[in-house]
Amino acid sequence: MFKRALTYDDVLLKPQYSSIVSRSDIDVSSDLGSGIKLKIPIISSPMDTITEGLMAFSMARLGGLGVVHRYNSIEEQVKEVERGTRGEFTLAARSVGAAIGVSGDFLERAQELVWAGVSLLCVDVAHGHHILMKEALSTLRKKLGSGLHIMAGNVASLAAINDLADWGANSVRCNIGGGSICSTRIQTGHGMPGLQTIIECVKTDRDVKIIADGGLRNSGDIVKALAAGADAVMCGSLLGGTTETPGRVSVDNDGLRWKTYRGMASKEAQIGWRGRYNSYEGVAAQIPYRGDIEPVLNDIERGIRSGFSYSGARTLTELQAKAEFIFQTPSGLSESKTHIMGRKW
Ligand code: IMP
Repeated sequence: MFKRALTYDDVLLKPQYSSIVSRSDIDVSSDLGSGIKLKIPIISSPMDTITEGLMAFSMARLGGLGVVHRYNSIEEQVKEVERGTRGEFTLAARSVGAAIGVSGDFLERAQELVWAGVSLLCVDVAHGHHILMKEALSTLRKKLGSGLHIMAGNVASLAAINDLADWGANSVRCNIGGGSICSTRIQTGHGMPGLQTIIECVKTDRDVKIIADGGLRNSGDIVKALAAGADAVMCGSLLGGTTETPGRVSVDNDGLRWKTYRGMASKEAQIGWRGRYNSYEGVAAQIPYRGDIEPVLNDIERGIRSGFSYSGARTLTELQAKAEFIFQTPSGLSESKTHIMGRKW
């Protein structure tokens, strides 16, 4: 009948024997090919409340990657890319990405971004398994050649990742409808739980990297995504609310500090970048201001290292080879969460 589809809360990784004495012996790096090596397998989302130049620069400096969003003019985006690629880390990291669409000015934008020095272009649409994606990828490959890393998405099936790889993508963002600010599944009835998307997409026999995108709420979810076969994760909310993200900090009457985090298909974002909205598939939220990205990312990285250690894995390849997932019941899930607060004494 219906196929069962799992997501992060439905599973746990079974702890394994470990001979790792120090977590600094663990290498959490990931090689995305085309010269892009991430020291930590975390990519910040191309959203106007997550990644512009400062965030892209900071992500690269800290060993990840930022993809500068495309919701502005070509000149403005190029300026942000140049902010992201300047500085002492440029040569070492060479990891600043930028997003483009599949229509309108996408080709001119792509060309300008390449001239500005991006190491990766991300063809960024909500439903990537689409004829416009096919045409865009084939045009980009013809125009830009085969050397540049092209990320594309989003997709939620094996057929889709295979097609995008065949059309020219080096890496594919996997997950439709799972993001924290996303209402696609509610508005359209379509999507696929995040972990299941990875489980499906890793069956690909193409030479393509898998990016688990959206719905990752903590380092545990990231470890599960990587263990299931993702080469890296893409995060919005986990990195949101930090100093380096675009937008101002607001202070409420109680002195609490907030930043806006919004889906790019939300009414608010659409009005912000094109003055009107069509159908909307996202929401805008105020999230707590959390200070600088570095300690936030360090905490996530420590959690990932710890996760590798529980699986007895020194590298991503070892994690994926050793990982043993188990299904957890709803009672297992409630035991997995901290549960001191609601207890009756
Ligand atoms: P998060 O990490 O759970 O907050 O999800 C971030 C991801 O949500 C992004 O990388 C996009 O793939 C996706 N996304 C961004 N904006 C929207 C939207 O408006 N609707 C649906 N998905 C979105």
